[in-house]
Amino acid sequence: MSSAMMQKSFFIHSFAERLRQQGIAATRQRLRIAKALFEHGGHPSAQDLFLLANRQQRTVCRATIYNTLNLFVSKGLIQEVSVDSSRTFYDLNIDPHHHIFNIDTGELLDVEPAAVSFKELPPLPQGTQQEEITLIIRVRNTRAAAPSTPAPGC
Ligand SMILES: [Zn+2]
Repeated sequence: MSSAMMQKSFFIHSFAERLRQQGIAATRQRLRIAKALFEHGGHPSAQDLFLLANRQQRTVCRATIYNTLNLFVSKGLIQEVSVDSSRTFYDLNIDPHHHIFNIDTGELLDVEPAAVSFKELPPLPQGTQQEEITLIIRVRNTRAAAPSTPAPGC
């Protein structure tokens, strides 16, 4: 087994364990969706995961994909990143971080928190405390930029 395969296998097993710790049954369909998340890496959409999970045989319906992703998000196992009202991505990286979204290519990239600093923040409403700041920087390709090639497996 290659080290990449071993690593993936390790992540799937630890993810299954995390499901059980959250009181969620690690059903075959949930594990298939978790596997699709790991296989894709990066920031898949629900559609990406639908295609990946059904690559070999069509066994997971769209509703199951959405319900499972919502369940994973609600349990803090993955993060949901909505870049606009119609585009949502899913992120296995649940540590706080920022993103760059390319409007032209639909690509979402991670930005380490240390790469961003805020000089000044507005006063928070009374009776509240800061929970998290997440930033999405929307970019467009400059005219000279070559079209980006889709990630392998897309
Ligand atoms: Zn991310």
